[in-house]
Amino acid sequence: MFVIGGGPAGLAAAIAARRRGCDVTLADCSAPPIDKACGEGVMPDGIAAARSLGIPLEQSGAWPFHGIRFVENGISVEADFPRGHGLGLRRTALQELMVDHAAAAGVRLLWDARVTGIARDTVTVDDRAVRAGWIVGADGGNSIVRRWAGLDECERDTRRFAFRRHYRVARWSEFMEIHWGDGCQIYVTPVAASEICVVLISRDSHLRLEDALEIFPQLNRRLASGPPSSRERGGISVSRRLRSVASRRVALVGDASGSVDAITGEGLCMLFQHAVLLADALASGDLARYRAEHRRLGRRPELMGDLMLMLDRSRPLRRRTFRAMASQPRLFARMLAMHVGELSLFDLAANGLALGWRLLTI
Ligand SMILES: Cc1cc2nc3c(=O)[nH]c(=O)nc-3n(C[C@H](O)[C@H](O)[C@H](O)COP(=O)(O)OP(=O)(O)OC[C@H]3O[C@@H](n4cnc5c(N)ncnc54)[C@H](O)[C@@H]3O)c2cc1C
Repeated sequence: MFVIGGGPAGLAAAIAARRRGCDVTLADCSAPPIDKACGEGVMPDGIAAARSLGIPLEQSGAWPFHGIRFVENGISVEADFPRGHGLGLRRTALQELMVDHAAAAGVRLLWDARVTGIARDTVTVDDRAVRAGWIVGADGGNSIVRRWAGLDECERDTRRFAFRRHYRVARWSEFMEIHWGDGCQIYVTPVAASEICVVLISRDSHLRLEDALEIFPQLNRRLASGPPSSRERGGISVSRRLRSVASRRVALVGDASGSVDAITGEGLCMLFQHAVLLADALASGDLARYRAEHRRLGRRPELMGDLMLMLDRSRPLRRRTFRAMASQPRLFARMLAMHVGELSLFDLAANGLALGWRLLTI
C-alpha cells in the first residue's frame, strides 16, 4: 500500500494498515514536524479512536479539558463531557508522536518526497515510479490524488476562513471555549499549563485575529496578559461531502475525503476512524464497504456542523438558543453528549423537541 501525505490522516492510515500486516510506504512533500492551522483540540471520542490504533495521545504532552463552554455577550453555557475528557495538544507534538508510532510499526517513511502522479499500480515520487497495490490519498483538503482518481465530485462544498495563534498565558478554565460574535467565532483550547491555542473562524477572508479580538474585550484582556508564542497561521475550514471516497484501487482518508467545519473539532477524530475503517475494508479487499461506512460515519459530525453554522448565521436564533440552554443546562449537556457520539438519533430528536419547546416559551 502507498500512502500519499504524512499528516495525521496518512500516518493513521499507515499505522492501521501495518497493524493488519500490510506492507506500507508513505510519502510527504514536507518533513516533520509539520505544522498546520488547527484548533488542536481532540474530543473524547477522538482520543478513543486514536487509542484503538495504539496511539496514546496522552503521552504527547497533551493537556486535558473537561467539557465545552459557549460564550456570547454576557451569556455563558457550559457542560462536562458525559465521559472522559478532551485533550489540547500542539499539532507538531501530535505529528511527532504519530511519526514515532508509524516508524515503530514498520512504515517506510519518505519525507521531502513529492508525489507527482499515479497510474493503475504505480505512484510517481520525485520522478521515480514506485509499485503500489492500494493507493491511499491522504494529501489534505486540496487533494490532488482526489482529482487524479476522478473523485472530485461534491455533494456539498462550503468554506470559511481561519487564523490560529498561540499565547503564553495561564489557562483560566477547564473547558475548551467557543466565543461567539456576529459572523465569527474564536475558540480557545488549553494546550499546556501556560499556553493556549486561539483560532478565529469567519466567512471574511480579510478578518484577522487581532481585529476580531476587539469584538471580545474580556478574552482580549486575558490574552494581552502574555505574549503570543507563535506567528499567526491561516487555514481554510471546509464543509465538504464527496459523492464517493474510493475508486477501484484508490481510497481517500482525512480531509482529502471530505471534512466538516472546524468549529466542530471533529476532524482528527474522523480521520482516526477513517483509518480503522479503511484497514478493515482493505483486509477484506472490499472498498465498497469503506465507501458506505465512511458516509455513515460522517452523518453525526455533519449534522452538528450544520447546527453550529445555523447559529453562526442568525444572531436572534443564537441568542435565544443560548438563553434557553443557560436556563436549562441539561439541554446543552445533552447536545454535547450527542456531539461526542454518546446519544442516539432518537435522543437527538427528543433533545431537539425539548430545545424547540424552550425556544418557544422563553
Ligand atoms: C482552522 C482549523 C482548525 C481546526 N481545529 C480542529 C480541532 O480543534 N480539532 C480537530 O479534531 N480538528 C480540527 N481541524 C481539522 C483538522 O485540522 C484536519 O481534519 C486535519 O488536519 C486533517 O489532516 P490530514 O492529514 O487529512 O491533512 P493535512 O494535515 O493537510 O496533511 C496532508 C499532508 O499531505 C501532504 N501532501 C500534499 N500533497 C502532497 C503530494 N503531492 N505529495 C506528497 N505529500 C503531499 C502535505 O504536505 C501534508 O503534510 C481544524 C481545521 C482547521 C482548518
